[in-house]
Parts: sequence; structure tokens; C-alpha cells
Amino acid sequence: MKRVILHKERDFSLRHRHPWVLSGAVNRVEGGDPEAGETVAVLGGDGAPLALGAWSGASQIRIRAWTFDPEETVDAAFFGRRVQAALDARRRLDTLAPGGAGRILNAESDGLPGITVDRYADFLVVQLTSAGAERHRNAILEALRSRVPCRGIYERSDSATLAAYECLPPHCGTAWGEDPPPLIEIREDDRRYWVDVRRGHKTGFYLDQRANRDLVSRYAAGADALNAFSYTGGFGIAAALGGARHVTHVELSTDALSLARRNLELNGLPADAHTFEEANVFEYLRECRDRGASFDLVVLDPPKFADSRGTVMKASRGYKDIALLGIKLLRPGGILATFSCSSHVDPALFWKITAAAAVDSRRSLRVLHRLSAAPDHCVSPDFPQGEYLKGFLCAVV
Ligand code: SAH
Repeated sequence: MKRVILHKERDFSLRHRHPWVLSGAVNRVEGGDPEAGETVAVLGGDGAPLALGAWSGASQIRIRAWTFDPEETVDAAFFGRRVQAALDARRRLDTLAPGGAGRILNAESDGLPGITVDRYADFLVVQLTSAGAERHRNAILEALRSRVPCRGIYERSDSATLAAYECLPPHCGTAWGEDPPPLIEIREDDRRYWVDVRRGHKTGFYLDQRANRDLVSRYAAGADALNAFSYTGGFGIAAALGGARHVTHVELSTDALSLARRNLELNGLPADAHTFEEANVFEYLRECRDRGASFDLVVLDPPKFADSRGTVMKASRGYKDIALLGIKLLRPGGILATFSCSSHVDPALFWKITAAAAVDSRRSLRVLHRLSAAPDHCVSPDFPQGEYLKGFLCAVV
């Protein structure tokens, strides 16, 4: 096995079991140039064996550690053990409930860098986003197929990370078993949704917001609700099933809105209690302000505004802008659910942004719930980047 020796002062994170080795941390490679995804032994500056990891010559993240046990072998049995551990960790969650949906494998946070697996009823969707994951594709598929009952496994290795950081071509298609139908029906408690695993965002649906949809539903009785950045209607359907009087869904994507309409039907919800606005949320909120509209419940679940450290300031202004407008639209006692999925905006910063918006709006917030991703999107303390989704559900006084 080729050996990668790190600079003495740069082996700190690996010693603390953070799975990434950045290109600048590599001092030298012994035994020749590793191929993309090849398993290499990683040694500290003092020559101590630290990890086995996948080499990725094209990426800033030069190595992603598979294991911190240098005696372990990265083979089919290894992937079997890791997939089993991920399933075991979720055994008290309903990730595998019939007809349900959830995350089975959360990449780095489950000790499998670059491998994300979501389940939508009878189908699994796999996203491989690193050279190492690509190289072990067959072993990964076999580890899943043999442990998780399913009719087919669909691959959605088309994320931006893959092309931008790993220089790997996007790859989508049925990887095993049956082709998924154009839309898969999933159930989340009493909610039903259609999911398009071929063209939908991420692997098809925002499974990370599941617990937060449950919560929003509990605060929705009788509400006039605004579901901003609605995608396929996720929070709006939850609010309607929780007894909201009316829901306005705002979204830029025509396709997402048409699926949101179909999701109403699927849940047997009357169409006249929903308005669909194909609009830019930033402009729509201003328009509501200008015509004096008001709501009892406002959900703000925007896309990632910051994708690097350098864009945090600009992103913060965006989050504050929509929070300020959202708070102003709320009637006294109204509920605001506001989220950020940018890992570069940490919970402390998002707290400050939300507080600043309240000050500028001259309203007071009572934070009732501090929110994060659903439990099947587990976080490892070794990998803080895994904690990307944060939010607050507040009463606005
Ligand atoms: N709340 C959704 C997920 C939202 S993801 C759920 O729980 O399923 C963010 C959505 O915002 C995407 O569907 C994207 O198309 C949409 N979007 C991005 N920028 C927007 C903008 N400026 N105005 C309206 N929608 C926008």
C-alpha cells in the first residue's frame, strides 16, 4: 500500500479523527502516485500510522479517511460492517418503516465519506461524491442490497461537489434491480408526498426537515400560513394537515410547484385552501408588506445562501432580510419557523441574525424550539461540518 506522510504540524485533525486531509497537509507520498480513490496508508509527521483513506489527487480534500485502525482492511466486508453499523444506529428510528422514507447513510457522519443513501419506500437512492466512494461502488451497492430490503437502487451521483471538487463525471441511473417509477409515494406519519428521485433536489426530497415538518404541523391549527421556498409543498402540506386555514406556497421552480399541487391531491386536501405563487421570495415578501398582508405562521426554508467562508457575510444579509420581512408579516402571537442549511453559518451566527432581524422589525421573539436536521441525519462529533441545518421556531410578540 502506498504511504502518505503528513507534515508534522498538519496531522492534528486526523489525530482527532476528523476524516479529511487537505492537500496542504501532505508532505510526501511513498511508493508511487496513487490512483483516484486508491486506499493509502496515512502517517503522521512522526511516522505514526494514523488512518487508511481514499486518495483523491484532483480534490482539495486529498484524502478521506475510511478507518483510523491501520490494521483494518478496506474491502467488501468493511463496507458491510459500516452499513450495518449505520442501520444499527437507526434501529429505534422509523427509517425502515414500510412506505416511509429516511436517510440510511449520512456519509462522513456515518464513517463513510462521500456516501449518502436515502430510502424512499421500496427504493434506495445512492449519492457517491468522492473518488474513494466511486472506486468501491460495487461493494457499497452489495452491502446495501444484502441488508436493506428494496426493489431497486437508483444512483444520483450528480451533486455539485462531485464535479467541482473531485473532477468526476456525473452519473445517474438504476444501479441495481428495478427502475424507480417516475414518482414514488412516501409517507411521513399522516403526510404523503410524491418524490421524483431522478430530477428532484438532493436525492429527491428534503428528508432532513422531517421532524421540523412534524413540529410546524403542531403549530398550524387555524393559521393563515406562508410557506416560503416551498419546493414540493413539504411544510405547507404539514401545516394544512395540522389544521391551517389557508397556505400560500412561494417557490421559483414551476416543476416543484406542480408537484406541490399533486401532493395536495395525494393528501386529500382541498385546493381552494392553497395558493401557489411562482415568485422570488425576496420580492414576494416585499409585495406582501406593501399591500399590508399578514399571516399567523411563516416558514422560511431557503436554499444554502453560503457555500464558502467568503460568502458568509452576503448570506447573513440574505437571511436577515427575509427574517425581517417575515417577522413584520406576522400577526401578534404568530409563529416564525426560520432555517439555514449553510454549514458556514453556525447556530450562534444564525441566532444573531435572527435576533438582529427582530430588533430591526421592532418586534420581540420568544424562541420555543431550536431546530436541527432529523435524527437519521446523524452528526458525528468528529465531523462538525455534518451539522449544517439549524433553525428556530419562535412566537412573535
Ligand atoms: N422547504 C422545502 C425545501 C426548500 S429548498 C421542503 O421542506 O421540502 C429551497 C427551495 O427554494 C428550492 O425548491 C428552490 O427552488 C427554491 N428557491 C430558491 N431561491 C428562491 C427564491 N429566491 N424564491 C423562491 N424560491 C426559491
